[in-house]
Amino acid sequence: MPNFKADYHCHTTISDGSLTPEQLIDLAMEHDVTHLAITDHDTTGGYEAGLPFAKAKGLQLISGTEISCQWQGHTIHIVGLEMDITNDALQAGLKWNRVLRWQRAFEIDAKASKKFGSLLENILPTIKGGMIGRNHFAHEMIARGLVKDQGKAFDKYLKQGRSLYAKVDWPELSEIVQWITGAGGIAVMAHPHVYKMSAHKLNTMLKEFKDAGGEGIEVVNQPRVCSEQLGMADRAKRLGLYASQGSDFHRPEHTWRGLGWLAPMPVGTDPIWNHFTKPENRPTKSV
Ligand code: AMP
Ligand code: MN
Ligand code: MN
Ligand code: MN
Repeated sequence: MPNFKADYHCHTTISDGSLTPEQLIDLAMEHDVTHLAITDHDTTGGYEAGLPFAKAKGLQLISGTEISCQWQGHTIHIVGLEMDITNDALQAGLKWNRVLRWQRAFEIDAKASKKFGSLLENILPTIKGGMIGRNHFAHEMIARGLVKDQGKAFDKYLKQGRSLYAKVDWPELSEIVQWITGAGGIAVMAHPHVYKMSAHKLNTMLKEFKDAGGEGIEVVNQPRVCSEQLGMADRAKRLGLYASQGSDFHRPEHTWRGLGWLAPMPVGTDPIWNHFTKPENRPTKSV
């Protein structure tokens, strides 16, 4: 067992992952992960459901969520870590985002119904945590043989510009940062390399994120060292953001994304794990 191995971004059946919080924790332990944050979309339910099991197994579980927001017309994801999940403003905000998700789901299903019949009727019994996302539709389409895999479901139907796409008017980025920091948590910019914007625009967004109270950025989210990581490490250093790491694990059959499979944190960054308030969330020896 290593002294310290962290994954601060993953999903369970409480949002759009395929493993229950308990199954995910078992997998984390198989992969020698010592510190885990379950970051289900727009809910802290994954953390809450997993906490008793993590405690019993001796895995350090950090409170987490991944919140959807918008900035200059782009949908952006912000990971919140080490929040007080009993904070009313945070929970009210997350609930609002889940309402927006349900409104979108009905819009998507109305479009789907015209094309190939309702998808939602099969999805509803599978919803575990009150959160519904586009992945639920993608996997129902796979189950019905309409598409081969999740990527095809998005490319053909679910992404912006495709026939089942429905826009969501998510809250603004600065507001979401406040939900997290107001609950005593650390706001982390999730997977900054996936947003389709120029390097200049990304830098502008990160600067605004930092000005709004954002403190972290995901630098490592793959097993291999790659140019994106080095680019994000450089931005973390220049902007004075803590460097985070997370696999964004959703399901075991996505074999390119293993829980805890993460390249070493680039040298010269300021790792987020040194900044958690609770001593048990920090490594006992320097990493
Ligand atoms: P949602 O928050 O419900 O709009 O869904 C976002 C999730 O859909 C992401 O977390 C990804 O798991 C997945 N996703 C988004 N775009 C794609 C894509 N082009 N291919 C495959 N999965 C995608
Ligand atoms: Mn997801
Ligand atoms: Mn995301
Ligand atoms: Mn995610």
